[in-house]
Amino acid sequence: MLSARLDWGTTYQVTVLELGLACCGVEVMAALDRLPDLGVTAVEGAGEAHVLIVSGTVTDAMLPAVLASYEEMPEPRYVISVGACSNTGGPYWDSYSVTKGIDQALPVHVAVPGCPPRPEALLEGMRALHELVSS
Ligand code: SF4
Repeated sequence: MLSARLDWGTTYQVTVLELGLACCGVEVMAALDRLPDLGVTAVEGAGEAHVLIVSGTVTDAMLPAVLASYEEMPEPRYVISVGACSNTGGPYWDSYSVTKGIDQALPVHVAVPGCPPRPEALLEGMRALHELVSS
């Protein structure tokens, strides 16, 4: 079941910025359609986002832009890495130009496995982050 409203608390609104860098981004977009049911809002600007979702292949050339988005986010800020590429480099792990996991550069709070992950997997990741935030 995809929809289940989560109580994120009343002191701040949970806003999500998606950086869809390759095919996993399509899966995330599909899942984001359901996320309003989870009490989160997708935003366009990093300055309004508390949750950064990185999905797809991150190249070393792209990594500074990902870091800049993270640095622009207000506290508290959280990172979800979606898919094998973002988690480890995935099928391109041995490419000279691919970052072997964004956790080398960012504090990743939840890593969602898969190539690509199903939307349900992303929602499980959101639930895991919710537990982390609530604990
Ligand atoms: S993990 Fe697989 S589906 Fe996702 S971006 Fe990489 S190659 Fe594409």
